[in-house]
Amino acid sequence: MMRLILLGPPGAGKGTQSERLLGHLRIPHLSTGDMLRAAIAARTPIGMLAEEYMSAGQLVPDPIILDLVGERLDEPDCRAGALFDGFPRTLGQAQALDDYLQSHGRPIDMVIELRVPDEVVIRRLAGRGRDDDRPEVIAERLKGYWAITRPLTDYYSQRGLLEQIDGLGAPDQVFDRILAGLNLRHTATPRRRATG
Ligand code: ADP
Repeated sequence: MMRLILLGPPGAGKGTQSERLLGHLRIPHLSTGDMLRAAIAARTPIGMLAEEYMSAGQLVPDPIILDLVGERLDEPDCRAGALFDGFPRTLGQAQALDDYLQSHGRPIDMVIELRVPDEVVIRRLAGRGRDDDRPEVIAERLKGYWAITRPLTDYYSQRGLLEQIDGLGAPDQVFDRILAGLNLRHTATPRRRATG
C-alpha cells in the first residue's frame, strides 16, 4: 500500500520513471496528462475544454482537473494506493488532494521531485515530438512549472514528505536513486523523517 507523487518539470522523466515504478508496486497510475489526452481523443466535454489550455502550454484549470481526479480516486482500485504523475501541479490541487486523502484515511507516503535543469529538459522535449513540444509551448510550460508547480516542494518538504532525486543520467540510474529513496523511508523509524 503506497501513495506516491511524482513532481518535476516537463521532460524530467516522470512518465519513464512511472513505468518502472509500476513494475515494482501494484498500484494504479494516475497521470492527469494521460487522462486529459484520453479525454481529448474521446471528444468528451472535459477534453474539449482542456485542449485549448494544453496546446498553449498552460495549466488546465483546477476545477476540471479535480473533477477528473476525484472520479478516478473514487474507484475501488485506488484504495490500494496510487502513483500520482503530473498531479498535483498547483497549491489548490495539493490542498484538495490532502482533503480527499485525509477524509479517506489514506496518507501520502512520499513525494519525489525529479530535478533536471531547464536546458536538459528543452533538449529532451525537442526530441520527443508531442503536439505540445513546440519550442514556444515548451517555454510556457517551463515558466508555469517554476512559477506555480515547483513551490509545491516547499509544501511537501514542510510535511517531511519530499525526496529530491537527481534526474540526470540514464533512466535506470535515475530509477536506482528513486528506489534508494523509497527504501530509506521504509526502513526509517519513526516513519517520517523531519526533512527531505
Ligand atoms: P509534461 O509534464 O511533459 O508537461 P503532462 O502529460 O503531465 O506532460 O501534461 C501535459 C499538459 O497537460 C500540461 O502542459 C497541462 O496543460 C495539462 N495538465 C496535466 N496535468 C495537469 C494538472 N495536474 N493541472 C493542470 N494541467 C495539467
